[in-house]
Amino acid sequence: MNQQTIATPALSLHGPVIDRAHPEYDEARKLYNAMIDKRPMMIARCADAADVIAAVNFGRDHKLPIAVRGGGHNGPGLGSVDDGLVIDLSAMKGVRVDPGARTVRVEPGCTSGDVDHATHPFGLAVPFGIVSTTGVAGLTLGGGSGYLSRKFGLTIDNLIEADVVLADGSFVTANQTKNPDLLWALKGGGGNFGIVTSFLFQAHPVGMVFGGPIAWDQAHARTILQTYRDFLPKAPEELCVVIGLKKVPSNSPFPEGAWGHRICLAVSCFNGPEAEGRKALAPFLGALPPPALDWTGMMPYPALQSMFDGLYPKGLQWWWKGDFVDALSDAAIDAHLAQAAETPSELSLMHLYPIDGAVHRVGKADTAWSARDARWSMVIAGIDPSPDKAESVTRWAKAYWTAVHPFNPGGGYTNFMMADEGEARVKAAYGENYARLAAIKAKYDPTNLFRVNQNIRPA
Ligand SMILES: Cc1cc2nc3c(=O)[nH]c(=O)nc-3n(C[C@H](O)[C@H](O)[C@H](O)COP(=O)(O)OP(=O)(O)OC[C@H]3O[C@@H](n4cnc5c(N)ncnc54)[C@H](O)[C@@H]3O)c2cc1C
Repeated sequence: MNQQTIATPALSLHGPVIDRAHPEYDEARKLYNAMIDKRPMMIARCADAADVIAAVNFGRDHKLPIAVRGGGHNGPGLGSVDDGLVIDLSAMKGVRVDPGARTVRVEPGCTSGDVDHATHPFGLAVPFGIVSTTGVAGLTLGGGSGYLSRKFGLTIDNLIEADVVLADGSFVTANQTKNPDLLWALKGGGGNFGIVTSFLFQAHPVGMVFGGPIAWDQAHARTILQTYRDFLPKAPEELCVVIGLKKVPSNSPFPEGAWGHRICLAVSCFNGPEAEGRKALAPFLGALPPPALDWTGMMPYPALQSMFDGLYPKGLQWWWKGDFVDALSDAAIDAHLAQAAETPSELSLMHLYPIDGAVHRVGKADTAWSARDARWSMVIAGIDPSPDKAESVTRWAKAYWTAVHPFNPGGGYTNFMMADEGEARVKAAYGENYARLAAIKAKYDPTNLFRVNQNIRPA
């Protein structure tokens, strides 16, 4: 449908409906990744589940392509769609903690920072990702890995229940007894099955943590990555160390002498007292040269979760691609180092997120996410504030991924995919679970109404 030829049909909701004539349209359609510039026909900013039902019925009946937006952080901008209807959940921000049961009920417009804020006073946290502005909805439905995953599993491993608006406008609850097949599919299968209007998570005791960034000159990166590879499987699960190759940003609070230098960065999080955290890290740090920067210390968990928010504000140019990684051979490390030496901008990066420990204790067929034997989820991201550098950061990230991909088992995290990776990559992400996902898709969304996502076609 096209607004030039067809008048915008009327949709009435409790929340605002923002069409192309609305003064807030250009602001409302902006996504986190400024490389993606989509012009939806209208944005339905839902206030509640009733609005979501009305919006789904409206979009389906008017044959509009429908995109669902939680936090809007998705790399390829799957939270929006050209000439279609965006069902924008960003205003649905309710969070209710049950400290006795250690559970938290979360509406789909929440960022992980919103939830950390609500759970921290109770000494609780749910495992989410490592940047607090990321939407809980998209992150959870893709899987969700972060600092607490080695101890408490992926975000989906802590998802107890979800309320979902289906393609026919009906409203269902999915838990272990009601629609358990739907709950299984939501645990990694993305936004394919319906629109989640409420999540119920298991939370865990997490208050003050020991951790933060430690950086070395990239000249030492070979030794660091080799040591890290051998150290991590033996480290206590209370400790997570995300490792990365990047540059020092040229701004405060980084020491001016280090601006622009290539570094190997280890960001750790130990859920426990400082002395134990330092002891857990000692075998790693003790085998390495002294770092150029060590900002580790005790801090509230939400402080660590939001530590990198300022470096990656909304509106940068992003192109990223990921892979699951099960081993870091010396040859793979050399391939990483050769590519990292060509980084075209200060913010571009390679990260390895640990997905071992508790993540491995869930069976491959127990959730839609099947990568239960991979050790890391890797992302390579070309990032820069300037649209003029969009092409160079994209070229670099593609070349980097191409160079290291042969060392990986195949398949990657759907939340680290761009839009053009093709059906084979989506299938590879789910492995043997894909056929079951396609069958569940056929049951809950037979016409593929929800297809602006890493799409699973109905069987
Ligand atoms: C800076 C940054 C850091 C990140 N760090 C991590 C990390 O540490 N760990 C990690 O696991 N991931 C991480 N990610 C990836 C992140 O998980 C994905 O980008 C995710 O898609 C973001 O979710 P969102 O709700 O913000 O996205 P949106 O763009 O709003 O939505 C993404 C997708 O989810 C679907 N969707 C959203 N809400 C719903 C809903 N309520 N019901 C049904 N479908 C829905 C949409 O259809 C869309 O396809 C990071 C991303 C960024 C940009």
